[in-house]
Amino acid sequence: MLANSLVELDRAHLIHPVASWRGHEAAGVRLLASGKGARVRDAQGHELIDGFAGLWCVNAGYGQDSVVEAATQQMRELAYATGYFGLGSEPAVRLAARLAEAAPGDLDHVYFTLGGSDAVDSTVRFIRYYWNARGMPGKDQFISLEQGYHGSSTVGAGLTAIPSFHAGFGVPYDWQHKIPSHYSYRNPAGSDDAAIIEASRAQLLAKVAELGGPERVAAFYAEPIQGSGGVLVPPKGWMRAMRDLCAELDILFVADEVITAFGRTGPLFACEEEGIVPDLITAAKGLTSGYVPMGAVFMSDRVYQVIADGAGAAAVGHGYTYSAHPVSAAVGLAVLDLYEGGLLENGRRMGARLMEGLRGLGDHPLVGDVRGRGMLAAIELVTDKAAKTPLPAASQPATRIFDRAWDQGLVIRAFGWGVIGYAPPLCCTEEEIDLIVARTRKVLDLTLEDPDIRAAL
Ligand code: PMP
Repeated sequence: MLANSLVELDRAHLIHPVASWRGHEAAGVRLLASGKGARVRDAQGHELIDGFAGLWCVNAGYGQDSVVEAATQQMRELAYATGYFGLGSEPAVRLAARLAEAAPGDLDHVYFTLGGSDAVDSTVRFIRYYWNARGMPGKDQFISLEQGYHGSSTVGAGLTAIPSFHAGFGVPYDWQHKIPSHYSYRNPAGSDDAAIIEASRAQLLAKVAELGGPERVAAFYAEPIQGSGGVLVPPKGWMRAMRDLCAELDILFVADEVITAFGRTGPLFACEEEGIVPDLITAAKGLTSGYVPMGAVFMSDRVYQVIADGAGAAAVGHGYTYSAHPVSAAVGLAVLDLYEGGLLENGRRMGARLMEGLRGLGDHPLVGDVRGRGMLAAIELVTDKAAKTPLPAASQPATRIFDRAWDQGLVIRAFGWGVIGYAPPLCCTEEEIDLIVARTRKVLDLTLEDPDIRAAL
């Protein structure tokens, strides 16, 4: 009864992110009521394994007492402190110091935001400031990848390359440009790693030339694994090659690790896997494991010193009321303790098990590709493996596959052309990983029976 009235209130008053508003009015909200570890319960009491960690964010799992305790204690002690006027709070300082210590190379300076989008926005502002401070104001063009996702703010949505984030919104801006993704499964250069890397290098060089040369280009953005574009894993060496090319061209390289940082792919930062040090890293999600909002920009000492010298005694006019929020910082510290206290290690073991389990689904007639790293994975479904034919739009993969999984007690992310994405909490047990795989097989079998799929086979 209560749930029914909440559905009505939701329909009347709550605007949902990235939803068809009319579609949502018709379908109604699915209410989640509680969570513990890797499992959630809906308002009807049905238990599901959250194979997507909320929105790839609840890396530490739900209901971790130490996190709840840290937030409660901080709220009692000091609920808020601004970073303006030279003020601050102990948890924010401690978190920045611990993160700087853990981050690759000279990424020694941390600017806290509220999430990923404003972390990306902050990098754009800092980068413009940086090139102005270096006396090169003409370096004002930004490049990112097709299938990339860099947030939903106006600037971030412009760097993003997902059509529904552009249509009707008047973005991208004319200084925001894209080059093709490495998308190995569907790359016109073929599936050979070296060929894909070479194609991406050539595409970046060509785009830079088209824009008037390196003296016009401020920065290049890439996710270590493209998440919202369909969990697209670049070949080993791709990030390093692009990072090196940017260094050669004196173009800043930004690794958008909003999804990949904090153990999602194994280490604390995915960049560690290639031993690269970007000029800037953006992070969020796993930073506070979704318990409270927080994002971060990691800035290399090289960039920091130029901005600091450029501003001199003047204020660098960029800040949010909730930058470096003490409660979020206290949560961040508690979550870091969990990662370092065994969660990263568990995530690495469970990630290997997940990949092995999903690879075992490769024999299913619909599975065209299995990809991922650590606890970030996807399977791409096709109606013809040789031709790599995407699922037909008529079979409504995004909603029907999601619904089928939900009915099996599994939360996944279903992408519109037939990709199923996984990002389970790092605290999953072996049994839970095996259940994710077993329930996925059932979802695949049910999908194979869908009349709109059968018609396309
Ligand atoms: N960058 C990437 C790579 C992301 O995946 C996301 C969110 N999915 C963002 C930026 C934006 O983060 P937020 O939703 O916290 O604003």
